[in-house]
Amino acid sequence: MLDFQPTPSSLFNPYYSPALKPVLDELVARLHRTFPNYHLQRKATLEAIQFVLNANVLNIHDLKQNPERFFFTFELLGLAGGGSFATALGVQYLLAGGSLLNLASPELCAHYLPDIAKGNLWGCLAMTEVGHGSNVKGIETTARYEPESDQLIIDNFNWVYQNGKLQYWDDEQARYHSLTARKCWIGNSGYAHIGVVIAQLFVPHEGEWVHKGPHAFLVPMRNVVTNEPKAGVSVEDMGEKMGLNGVYNGLIRFQDVRIPRDNLMMHNIVSLSNQGVHQKLVAAPMLSLYSSIQYGRTFIAATSHSLINVNLSILMQMRDSHRLSPNAATLAKWIARTYGLHFAKKHLFQALKQGGNDTLATGMKVLTTEYAHKLLDEMRYYYTSAHSFPVLGHNLEFVFKDWVASCTYEGDNPVIAQKVPGDLLISLMMMTKGFNFSRDVPMIWKMFNQIRPRLWGETPLLEHMQQGCWYLVLALSLKLQSGYDKALSKEEKEAHQARIWNDCQIFIIKMAHLWTALSVLEIFSKEASSHTNEKMRDLAEYMATCVYQEEFVQAFFHSEALKEQYAFQGTDKLTTLLKYCLSKVDGFVPTQASFKRLKEQQSECLQRLVPHFNDFEKELVGQSDFVALLRKRLFTLPEKEVDIDGLMEGMRHLTIWHDLKRGTKAPVSASATDELSLSEPIYSAHLRARL
Ligand SMILES: Cc1cc2nc3c(=O)[nH]c(=O)nc-3n(C[C@H](O)[C@H](O)[C@H](O)COP(=O)(O)OP(=O)(O)OC[C@H]3O[C@@H](n4cnc5c(N)ncnc54)[C@H](O)[C@@H]3O)c2cc1C
Repeated sequence: MLDFQPTPSSLFNPYYSPALKPVLDELVARLHRTFPNYHLQRKATLEAIQFVLNANVLNIHDLKQNPERFFFTFELLGLAGGGSFATALGVQYLLAGGSLLNLASPELCAHYLPDIAKGNLWGCLAMTEVGHGSNVKGIETTARYEPESDQLIIDNFNWVYQNGKLQYWDDEQARYHSLTARKCWIGNSGYAHIGVVIAQLFVPHEGEWVHKGPHAFLVPMRNVVTNEPKAGVSVEDMGEKMGLNGVYNGLIRFQDVRIPRDNLMMHNIVSLSNQGVHQKLVAAPMLSLYSSIQYGRTFIAATSHSLINVNLSILMQMRDSHRLSPNAATLAKWIARTYGLHFAKKHLFQALKQGGNDTLATGMKVLTTEYAHKLLDEMRYYYTSAHSFPVLGHNLEFVFKDWVASCTYEGDNPVIAQKVPGDLLISLMMMTKGFNFSRDVPMIWKMFNQIRPRLWGETPLLEHMQQGCWYLVLALSLKLQSGYDKALSKEEKEAHQARIWNDCQIFIIKMAHLWTALSVLEIFSKEASSHTNEKMRDLAEYMATCVYQEEFVQAFFHSEALKEQYAFQGTDKLTTLLKYCLSKVDGFVPTQASFKRLKEQQSECLQRLVPHFNDFEKELVGQSDFVALLRKRLFTLPEKEVDIDGLMEGMRHLTIWHDLKRGTKAPVSASATDELSLSEPIYSAHLRARL
C-alpha cells in the first residue's frame, strides 16, 4: 500500500494527502475530457481503473478492517475520476468484491478476491431484470440444484420463475415469454469474468421443484484468457445513456449455465447439502443477503456528501462577489447540513466494522442524494442563471447527468426510503415484544397517558422532534393493525395492510426523511456538545431549525393520510387507540406560534453564526490544492476533441469485437439477434464496411 497518513487539516476528507495527489492528478488528466464516443470513454475508464489498482492506494480488506480509510480514499478517487470511473470501480470493488467478502465461503473468497482487487478479473453484480428492479422478490432468473451432478443450473431463458412458480419454455416460446427475465442495466457486464448473480433457488423434493427464494451465486461469465463468454452466457450492450457513458451497462442472458454447488454465495446465511437439503441459518435470509451488499449505498451517501461539500465551498466564495449571491440563511443551512452529514457519514463508516447500520445507510443514501440534487439546482441558479448561462464555461450539466443515476441505482429513492419506516416498525415490535396489541389495549392506553408530550421550549428542539417522530411510527403501526371488525385470514390481513401502506406512501417516505435527518442531527449534536468551540453548537442548533422547517413540517403535513379512508372503519379497540394516538400527534403539528418561535430562534442563531463564515469556509475548503483539483474536475468544461483514430480503435475494441464474435458464434436465440440489431449504434454497419 502507498503510505499516506490522514491530514487533520482537511476536516472533510482526512485521507487527502500530498502522496495521493499524483494519482488524483493523473485521473483528472485521463478522464476530464470530452470523449468522441462512449466506446472510447469506456476504454479510458477501464484503463484508469487499472492504473489506480496498480498504484496500490486501495486495500479491499479495509472494507471490513478500516472502512473509514477505505471510503474516504475511494471518495477522493471517485471525485477526481468522475461519475463513470467511480461507478465502474464501485461495481468492481463494492458490488462484486464486497459481495465476495460478505457472502462467499472463505475458499471461494480466497480464490477470486485477490484477482478482483488487482483488476486481473472483472466482476459485476447481476440483480435487476427487465421486469423486476425494485421488486427483487419477483426476479425470474432461476438456479436449479441437480444432486446427480452436484451442480446448480442458472437460467433465465428456458427455466424462469413466473406467476409464483417454476416455468419451462422451449426455445421458441422463451423468445417472447422470457424477455422480462433478462438481467438488465448490469454495470461492467460487457467485460466481467465473474458475476454475482441473484436468482430464485429451486431444490428437488419428491419429484417436485421446491422454491427457496432469491439467493446469490457466483457465476463465471467469461474465459479469463480469451475473454470469450462462457457457454450459455450472452451479454448485450445497452448503448449510449444520458450520463455515465464510461460504464458498460448490459443485458445478460443465461441458458443452462452450470456451476458447482460451492458457488452458492450465502455463507452462514443458508446451507445446501449435496442431497439438496436447504437449511436457513438465520431467521430472514433475504434481509441478510441485502444487508450484506450495503456498501454501495454507503458509498453513494459519501460521494453525494462530497459533492455537497465542494459545491458549498464554491457558494461560500461566491457570497460577496457574485451578482446572485446566496443569502446568509441559505449558506448557514448548507453549512449545517454539510457538517451534520460529515459526522453521520463517519458514524456509518465506523458502524461497518460491527456489521453496519443498514437502516441509516439506506436513509442517508436517500437524504444525501436528495440534498445534493437540491444544491445542484441551487448552484444552477446562482452559478449559471439568466445571462451568465451562455457565457460561463461550466461543467454542471455533465456533473448532473453523471450523478443523477445515483438516486436510482442501489435502489430507487422513493422505494428504498420505505425501508426506513419498515425497519422502525420492526424495532417498535421488538421493543413491545411480550405484549399483544389487541389483548393489551388497556396497558398501552395507560402507558400513553403516562407519556407527556415534550414541548419545544421545555425540552430541546431535537428531543421534541424525536418524540413527535416516534408518535408517528406508533400511529402508523396502529393503523396497520386496526380496522378489522372480524377475524381476517393471513392473506386478507396482508392485503388490508398493503392497501393502507400504499395509501400512506407519501407520508411514509416523508417519515423516512424525517427519521434520517433526526439521526444525522443527533450524531452532529453529540459531536458538537463535546466540541470546545461554541460555533459548532450553534451550527447544530441551526440544523435543528432547518430540520423542523423542512422534514418535520413535511412529515406532519402528510400525516393527514393516517386519518383517511381505512382508519376509522373499524370499531375495534385498536381503532379507538389509533384515534387517541392521532390526537397526541395533533399536539406536535406545527402552528403559527411554532413558526414564529422558529423564526426567532433561527435569526438569533444566524447572527451568532455569520461572524464565523470565514472559519467555516476554511474548514470546508480544507487543503486548497485538493479543492482546486476537484473544482477543476467538477466545474470546468473539458476541452472537446475529435479523435478519429481513437474512435476507430475504440470501435474495434468494443462494438466490432462483439459484432465479429456474433458472426462466428450462434446467439442464444433468434430474438436476441433481433434485439441486438435494434440496439446497435447506427454507424456500426458503416464502420464494419470500412474495416
Ligand atoms: C446507471 C445504472 C446502473 C445500474 N447498475 C446496476 C448493476 O450493476 N446491477 C444491478 O443489478 N442493477 C443495476 N441498476 C439497476 C437499478 O438498481 C434499478 O434501476 C433500480 O433498482 C430500480 O429498478 P427499475 O429501474 O427496474 O425501476 P422499477 O422498480 O420498475 O421502478 C419504476 C418506477 O416505479 C417506482 N416504484 C417501483 N416500486 C415502487 C414501490 N413499491 N413504491 C413506490 N414506487 C415504486 C420507482 O420509484 C420508479 O419510479 C443500474 C441502474 C442504472 C440506472
